[in-house]
Amino acid sequence: QSPVNNELMLELRLIPYGTDQVLFLARDISKIHRLEEMRRDFVANVSHELKTPLTVVRGYVEMVQSTEHALDPYWLKVFTTMETQVSRMDRLVEQLLVLSRVEINIDEDEKQVINMPKMIKALVDDSQWLNQEKQHQLTTDIDETLAIEGLDNELKSACSNLISNAIAYTPAEGHIHVSWKKSGNKACFSVKDDGPGIRPEHVNRLTERFFRVDKSRSRDTGGSGLGLAIVKHVLNHHHAELAINSKWGEGSEFIIYFDPKCIKSLN
Ligand code: ADP
Repeated sequence: QSPVNNELMLELRLIPYGTDQVLFLARDISKIHRLEEMRRDFVANVSHELKTPLTVVRGYVEMVQSTEHALDPYWLKVFTTMETQVSRMDRLVEQLLVLSRVEINIDEDEKQVINMPKMIKALVDDSQWLNQEKQHQLTTDIDETLAIEGLDNELKSACSNLISNAIAYTPAEGHIHVSWKKSGNKACFSVKDDGPGIRPEHVNRLTERFFRVDKSRSRDTGGSGLGLAIVKHVLNHHHAELAINSKWGEGSEFIIYFDPKCIKSLN
């Protein structure tokens, strides 16, 4: 896509035609582009405006819950439910804001060498606090020398979404393995679990916005259906691809393959 000026956006394509000819196609996509921009701005603005009222409601709920006077069981249930729902909405708004940030084009100059081993270890450490009662067995295999040129917050968001999904969807006492190493000439971040797996017909739709395989189960886990859409956009900015290997009933592996041109060494 090439912006010819502020108003006009053309999609230019060369398509092979026969053995010795090519077709040149130019399509005016200015309107689609403007509508896309309006949608993105609208979602970002609404999400931003929702943050303040949510913080106020959450503050009042927490204030009532921490009051010295014991609440009777009815009101205790009311405020616990309010707290759960406000937290869900808070997470959804946060994910919408992250998505609108990663949907826009980035400035390649902002990329830095990211110490991936350090970042991944911190994410795994933090994740031990999520769903502690499930007592997962979490193992890692991390190449300490392997770094990536990229955007810190975006990569953190992509990796943490894959780890928190494995934790959310893997039942109690399941095994989750996180690895960061070379695979051929690519760098590869993988999160493997022995959870429920995903049916083949759903795999291709997982990175769509708001797509959730099982809406009721995802609601229980506090899911919004935006996590993998965020991962997809982050990878578009990083010469990287997502592969999903999953067997229904046996588990899933989500792998990010980074192109050799992003790879840096920490030694
Ligand atoms: P959500 O916020 O619902 O987790 P995601 O975009 O992160 O949204 O994931 C989309 C859907 O993919 C989830 O609702 C879930 O059905 C499925 N999914 C993601 N990760 C896993 C996993 N590790 N095991 C099983 N299903 C998964």
